[in-house]
Amino acid sequence: MQQLIDGYARFRSNIFPQQSGLYEQLAKGQQPQALFICCSDSRVVPEVVMQCEPGTLFPCRSVGNLVPPSTEISSGIAATIEYAIRVLRIPDVIVCGHSDCGAMKGILESEKIEALPAVRSYLQHAGPSSKWLTHLLKGATSLSFEQKLRLLTEANVIAQLQNLRAHPAVDEALKNSTVQIHGWVYDIGTGGIQQFDQEQGSFRALLAEEQTSAIKPQDRKKIA
Ligand SMILES: [Zn+2]
Repeated sequence: MQQLIDGYARFRSNIFPQQSGLYEQLAKGQQPQALFICCSDSRVVPEVVMQCEPGTLFPCRSVGNLVPPSTEISSGIAATIEYAIRVLRIPDVIVCGHSDCGAMKGILESEKIEALPAVRSYLQHAGPSSKWLTHLLKGATSLSFEQKLRLLTEANVIAQLQNLRAHPAVDEALKNSTVQIHGWVYDIGTGGIQQFDQEQGSFRALLAEEQTSAIKPQDRKKIA
């Protein structure tokens, strides 16, 4: 706890005075660029990865970056989405999964979450495609646990994009072309982001230069 209070003291004495103009502006209102739906995992910090200042991202965190159906209003996710789209008129929504996700591991190893009824119940929102994939993966002996986890994490992002599209506020904004939605998977160990390509039906590196990073330097010379 002391580490947090010491950090706050540094914020008050150094950071805040340096950025007082920004905070003065933010005190009057917000105009975030994106609604960022990601897992509650402490290792996923979009403001650091995207290098954003306060006021840029409208965060929405939930276990396993799940987007329950709009009828499930008790989770608060539906309210966050509705406010972001209808009131703040945020133009982009990102659903971001991540590597080593405890929620995805819980789906793959359901016996480990038997004593966690709230988690078990909430993970139902991972959707029918995840259930189908989990069933399929349990029989896939040629795949390692890490490979299964990766596939499930990607399938879950696609399932949550479908749930997101079905929210009335998002559906309306998509029809009016006032919002775009994106599916990402963030790798904690490498810092890399893969994005879902709707047309190709697969994930690829978010940065164009990283899409070719598999090519070795000597091969690049040959191509050139
Ligand atoms: Zn997670």
